[in-house]
Amino acid sequence: MNHNYNFESTSVWVEEPNDKQAALTESIQADVAIIGGGYTGLSAALNLKEAGVDVVLLERDYCGKGASGRNEGHLTPTIGKDLPTLVKYVGQERAIEFARFADRAVEYTESIFQKYQIDCDYKPVGNVVAGLHPKHRDPLKNMADLAQSLGVNVSFLDEDQTRERGLPNMVKFGVLEHCGGHLHPGKYVMALRAEALKAGVRIYEDTTVSEITHKTNPVEVTTDKGSVTCDKVVVATNAYAPSTLGHLKSKVFPLRVTLFQTRELSEAEQEAVGWKGKEGIYTAHEALESYRPSPDGKRIMGGSKFVRYGYGGKLAGGYQPAVFEQFKNIFKERFPELPNLEIDTFWGGWIGMTLDFLPMNQSNKQENVYYGVGYNGHGVAQATLGGKMVADQVLGQTNEDVDRLRRRIYPLPPEPFRWLGVNALKWYFDHIDRKIDNELRQH
Ligand SMILES: Cc1cc2nc3c(=O)[nH]c(=O)nc-3n(C[C@H](O)[C@H](O)[C@H](O)COP(=O)(O)OP(=O)(O)OC[C@H]3O[C@@H](n4cnc5c(N)ncnc54)[C@H](O)[C@@H]3O)c2cc1C
Repeated sequence: MNHNYNFESTSVWVEEPNDKQAALTESIQADVAIIGGGYTGLSAALNLKEAGVDVVLLERDYCGKGASGRNEGHLTPTIGKDLPTLVKYVGQERAIEFARFADRAVEYTESIFQKYQIDCDYKPVGNVVAGLHPKHRDPLKNMADLAQSLGVNVSFLDEDQTRERGLPNMVKFGVLEHCGGHLHPGKYVMALRAEALKAGVRIYEDTTVSEITHKTNPVEVTTDKGSVTCDKVVVATNAYAPSTLGHLKSKVFPLRVTLFQTRELSEAEQEAVGWKGKEGIYTAHEALESYRPSPDGKRIMGGSKFVRYGYGGKLAGGYQPAVFEQFKNIFKERFPELPNLEIDTFWGGWIGMTLDFLPMNQSNKQENVYYGVGYNGHGVAQATLGGKMVADQVLGQTNEDVDRLRRRIYPLPPEPFRWLGVNALKWYFDHIDRKIDNELRQH
């Protein structure tokens, strides 16, 4: 077996910018220091700067190097693991609050595209939770009914409606999320970076924060070659927080997620696959597979499903030939109408998970360190709004989404129980999905 896969260590979306900002090499002062230059950090920086706050942003590589420059670009109102599970655990009333937050996150992100005139190839075509097997039908129909009863803007697509839409053949029926769609995540994060620079945010790249000393006011933020003395700190490092900063070890854990893209489709292949509406797709598996057309519509992108947890919250490595091989096989099964279409590139990144699959946006007890993290793989919208939520808290302003998300956050179990728990859940999901996939193969 040939194990030489074409692998991008960051992604197909971003590369180091020509105007990479200099590292911090001295001791400086600011009102607020933001750690992390993804959607959360940049959105927080823009909101704070517009409110007249003197803000510095510290990024260990270049802005966009994290999940914000690596993801699959689905702009989605998905919240929690899925809506029925959320209702089961928190009850209908709280689930409505969380669903409202997720809708607002998409709306807010769209308003940011408008406000800054961001061209990130956004296509507001929605996303479909796709049923592949008859066993997916009842859960999806129930999900659509429940979501509609909670006021979420979705429709159940039956077999005829699915065919009318020209979705790929693997999709037998599904739930269409009307709000959202997909975009070019790299163009989006780089546009936020450019806006932040234009607004006068002092950005230091190649600058790793090693410590936050926040027992006193002012707060001291120590970096590899300098320091910032400030009143308040925003931690926007999401999945990286436990390993690079030593923060939130009991609240957030990273999972490695793999993505891929195919070579360009020929015209005949484009015709064979259909997919006229270009919707984003997630399969209704327990560990979902995700698919979307590339921004130029010439390739298919996909991934998720096989995630990897690094013991102790470490960032698990990404070059995984066995996983790449599994994706190649699964892709052929999902797109039988494209028998010769090869995957040509793999990449991936780390998502920040929480125990209840909901984001964490709050401050510490001293109220000088603010966290916007834990988007559970849905952060394109939620991290964008998360930046505003964290900025409002820094400014001492009320924010209804912060109130909506306020809850008791239980700590994750320590190792080795965490490792066992994550892997047991993975095994359980895999077991259910494998049964479904085996039955699909027999049909
Ligand atoms: C493979 C993959 C696919 C995904 N697909 C989707 C999707 O389709 N739709 C969706 O909604 N979401 C998706 N997500 C999730 C989404 O990308 C994230 O939730 C979102 O980008 C989080 O943004 P962020 O700004 O909080 O974190 P990040 O973008 O990860 O930014 C954190 C930044 O902090 C920096 N940093 C870390 N430690 C330090 C330190 N000590 N000092 C200084 N800087 C530091 C990092 O370099 C990084 O740039 C996906 C994620 C991955 C990895």
